[in-house]
Amino acid sequence: MPGLDMTVQPIADTVSNKRQGDHVVELIGNTPLIDLSPLVPSPRVQLLAKAEYCNPGGSVKDRPALAMVREALDTGRLAPGGRVLDATSGNTGIAYAMLGAAMGFGVTLCLPANASPERKRLLRAYDAELILTDPLDGSDGAIREAKRLARERSELVYLDQYGNPENWRAHYETTGPEIWRQTSGQVTHFVTGLGTSGTFMGVSRYLVEQSNSIRTVSIQPDSPIHGLEGMKHMESAIVPAIYDPQQAHEDRAISTEAAYSMVKRLARDYGLLVGISAAANVSAALEVAADLDEGVVVTILCDDAMKYLSESFWEEV
Ligand code: PMP
Repeated sequence: MPGLDMTVQPIADTVSNKRQGDHVVELIGNTPLIDLSPLVPSPRVQLLAKAEYCNPGGSVKDRPALAMVREALDTGRLAPGGRVLDATSGNTGIAYAMLGAAMGFGVTLCLPANASPERKRLLRAYDAELILTDPLDGSDGAIREAKRLARERSELVYLDQYGNPENWRAHYETTGPEIWRQTSGQVTHFVTGLGTSGTFMGVSRYLVEQSNSIRTVSIQPDSPIHGLEGMKHMESAIVPAIYDPQQAHEDRAISTEAAYSMVKRLARDYGLLVGISAAANVSAALEVAADLDEGVVVTILCDDAMKYLSESFWEEV
């Protein structure tokens, strides 16, 4: 057909332009925005949720992990074939481990020994090195161990997701603009839970720059001991260096029980098998929506339920 070859790149060029790992990297981001408005009683309030479990590593953390790795490679801190180190409750680790396998670098992770068996198996499947820390010390114990290892093993490149600005920047550059575009600039409220705070900080910064009438709401567990994996109770935890509480117009607390019951409701009544922090976000976003006469509330479905299937709350009445 005349002209057909104008749109097809010669194979040699396609191959030479590719970087190692692109087959995975190209799948990160541009996730769907799901309409959960049927959960909201008011017909003039929309609830939309970003399906971050559609990322190839299964969570919102693929975006910052890629940004932190890229920065380390671009600045030469991480040499090809080198090894990265971080503390992670699971999802960032899974993202690093996936990227390490795809792009060709090693991954060492510090995580509490009581991280779910599914998570540990996933990490080992990608061949990551796991350093398990005392469950009683929680994610803070994993952070302290990573800092210690970073001093002791000079070959490790410590990515420090809690203090690395590339974490929030990944969301400022991708998640925020996607939400703005997918809502055609109609978003009025952004609601999400705090872990490293990268998602909240990056998306909020971007959205408020687009329209200063947008309200940003951060979510935290309602007590120091909680089951909201991936989320932090800031008052009792090591506060991430990238977190700025001033970025939130409002901060709300959510209980583990509310999140568990929302996990089951979303699975059983809506066919959405999301993770616990995702359900906490939906619960909190519904509370925000309940206070509005009209608006477009956007939240984040951080991951799906696959890593939490062994938890006992599924059987509880
Ligand atoms: N939910 C889950 C399941 C997570 O893994 C994380 C990351 N720790 C979060 C929520 C919080 O995201 P962020 O670190 O961007 O605050």
